Amino acid sequence: MDTPSTLPHQHISTRIDALSRRLWEISLELHGRPELSHHERRAASLLSGELAAAGFDVERGTAGLPTSFVARAGSGDAPRVALILEYDALPELGHACGHNLIAAAGLGAALALRDLLPATGGTLLVVGSPAEEDGGGKIAQVEAGVFDGVDAALMFHPGVHNWSWAPLTALTDLRVTFHGRAAHPTGNPEDGVDALHALIRLFTTLDELGENAPSGSHIQGIVTEGGKVTNVIPDHAEGRFCLRALTTGALAELESRFTRCATEAARTVGARVTISREGDAYGHFRSNPVLAGVFTRHLARLGITATEPDPGVFLGSSDIGNVSTRVPTIHPFVRILPPDHSDHTPEFATAAGDERGRAAMLAAAEALACTAYDAFDDPAVTRGAWNVFEEQRTVGR
Ligand SMILES: [Zn+2]
Ligand SMILES: [Zn+2]
Repeated sequence: MDTPSTLPHQHISTRIDALSRRLWEISLELHGRPELSHHERRAASLLSGELAAAGFDVERGTAGLPTSFVARAGSGDAPRVALILEYDALPELGHACGHNLIAAAGLGAALALRDLLPATGGTLLVVGSPAEEDGGGKIAQVEAGVFDGVDAALMFHPGVHNWSWAPLTALTDLRVTFHGRAAHPTGNPEDGVDALHALIRLFTTLDELGENAPSGSHIQGIVTEGGKVTNVIPDHAEGRFCLRALTTGALAELESRFTRCATEAARTVGARVTISREGDAYGHFRSNPVLAGVFTRHLARLGITATEPDPGVFLGSSDIGNVSTRVPTIHPFVRILPPDHSDHTPEFATAAGDERGRAAMLAAAEALACTAYDAFDDPAVTRGAWNVFEEQRTVGR
């Protein structure tokens, strides 16, 4: 199905053109002074300041996160469309995930839409989401109700593919502690219970669990404590384990199998085990095909063809997963490097600050604004998005 360019779409295009210089300046400003998760003070202030100057109502510190914000414009009524801005960077690597481009594209889309809103009705939210890389700011925002009543949550991510959606798995990080009993390894070994032995046993059984787990599942473990000296049987051993699965439901299943393995490892050795969660669990990403279809068609008008992701490829996990299991959401990739590269590399940081990043950001800004416009203008878009969302929820995808 073609998405024709209408007068409002042309208006958006003209607006993005007019804004392009300022958007790129902002993008470069973020790129040149990267800030880590939860420390994005300058970015949050710059972006929310631009929105306030354009007449948006800005609330800062949303969801108890100092570098989070929500800017609102429009009538306050439905439909409600949220544009999501990320702006945190990576230690050592700077903007090697290209969040400077996500921020500038979302800002550009918001500014381009601003003066169309009185005619369309509805409410536009611009959600400044900190700490995607470390902590998951969107999880707190979801819990605080920021996305309640939203009909379409829209963002793009720069990448090494043009993909209409991102294959992102559910994730949880567990701390596993084995409690044994210290003893001298040759003096009174019969009194000892080797906690490290239980931890090593767990690693061994996980190999088997991994081999039998469904596609998209993965467990990565590290040892964080395994004894202090070699002349005492360790009474305490600890590991951290990152569990991933295709869906949030499959992750719960994997976690219970993991827990059984840990309990069995402890029992075999005679130790005791405790398991706790580190941080919040990330939901899997549920792409909304209706909204992704609208975005992809607008992107195609701009000369970028986005396809479905390659089957069997998974690109990590993100807090957008937690948004996407609550409301219809898109998170497409627009390429700034060829597929034989990766994000979180110095090359990706370079591309996020040069012409490749600029072109992707401006195209994404325009396609996001046009998608948001269609969600405001055509009730069939949000109705269709919710219908598919309910179907996906019913089958647990
Ligand atoms: Zn990243
Ligand atoms: Zn990222």
